[in-house]
Amino acid sequence: MKLFEFEAKGFFKKAGIPVPEGVVADTAEGARKAYEDLGGNVVLKSQVLAGGRGKAGGVKFPKSSDEAFAMATEILNMKIKDMPVEKVLVERALDIKKEFYLGIITDPDKGCPLLMFSAEGGVEIEVLAAEKPEAIRKVFIDPRYGLMGYQVQFELQQAGLPQELQNGIINAARRLYQVYWDMDGELIEINPLVITSEGKVIAADAKFNVDNSAVPRHPELPKRPARTIEERAAELGLSYVLLDGNIGIISNGAGLTMSAMDFLREYSSSPANFLDLGGGATQASAIKNGMKIVFENPNVTALLIYVFAGGPRCDVIASGVIEALDEMEKEKSLRTPIVATLHGRYKEEGMKILSASKSPYLYLETEVEDAVRKVIELGGHSK
Ligand code: GDP
Ligand code: MN
Repeated sequence: MKLFEFEAKGFFKKAGIPVPEGVVADTAEGARKAYEDLGGNVVLKSQVLAGGRGKAGGVKFPKSSDEAFAMATEILNMKIKDMPVEKVLVERALDIKKEFYLGIITDPDKGCPLLMFSAEGGVEIEVLAAEKPEAIRKVFIDPRYGLMGYQVQFELQQAGLPQELQNGIINAARRLYQVYWDMDGELIEINPLVITSEGKVIAADAKFNVDNSAVPRHPELPKRPARTIEERAAELGLSYVLLDGNIGIISNGAGLTMSAMDFLREYSSSPANFLDLGGGATQASAIKNGMKIVFENPNVTALLIYVFAGGPRCDVIASGVIEALDEMEKEKSLRTPIVATLHGRYKEEGMKILSASKSPYLYLETEVEDAVRKVIELGGHSK
């Protein structure tokens, strides 16, 4: 789950990381009022779940309340990276002397938290990593002990930071780690972390992504409108359409998927969805994600997996089915029979992998029509 800048800054503030005083507005009039309440000298910042807002014109400095109104109007009509801007953060502007980068991610290779610091903040970290990787200093964090002050201090010294700047940054880093840890963060970032002309350390920007699996155990996270199954499927790169029947279908290729739907109708049954894995479904994760998506629809009483592997391979698809079954059985979330029929490349190997499964929910058929009859027999007809 991604948080907006103003939401992330709420968590920062609670953890004792200094952030500028600010107000969120969802209308231009609200932004004008915020300008006046803060006594002018503010920055207007578009709130979207993307970086690069500065470059896209989404960060503006009004010089009067009328200008605040006009600029907020402009910002609230903008789209940044295809996302409409619905809110604008009105913040007391900072007198910036220097910009740093400070962030923590869960390192995908080591699986542990990784702190990154750079004296060259302000630019996106991906850009910095590509153009000047030596400017990024990295600290792996042992989660048993957390982030130690001396670890950060060493990096700051290596980066040549003067003594008087070190404590403020070390504090920010340790608190940032605490937020990341307490909230099951996946990525947490301050870019830029600013030193003002008075020598204060302030988080001028904030980015915070929480591990999706951990969202349910953090009631303090903001509530988001529920997304549809189709939206979630699209995020996973699956071509999925929700229908009103009860037999789930996973197939590959639009033509084959439609013929599976026709087969069902032939036997007076009806599909719960259209799901075409596509010719690119060469990885086990495609069918695994597909199965989870299909079962999100509560109307599904049985699932038909009908694959003809031309590009992809049956054995890879079969491994994906097994992985999904294992995961769902571990979560005890599977209560629905699955009938699979695999054809094409590595068919024997695929069927062999499936037949080795001990899952009571999995049925295999060599002929398509038998599979269709079976899935209807198991799933019944929709009410
Ligand atoms: P991003 O482009 O989406 O990462 O948005 P940022 O919040 O990082 O803003 C982009 C840039 O605007 C920053 O790198 C700063 O240089 C500048 N900026 C943001 N807030 C302020 C501010 O309060 N005062 C000044 N002078 N510059 C700011
Ligand atoms: Mn930024």
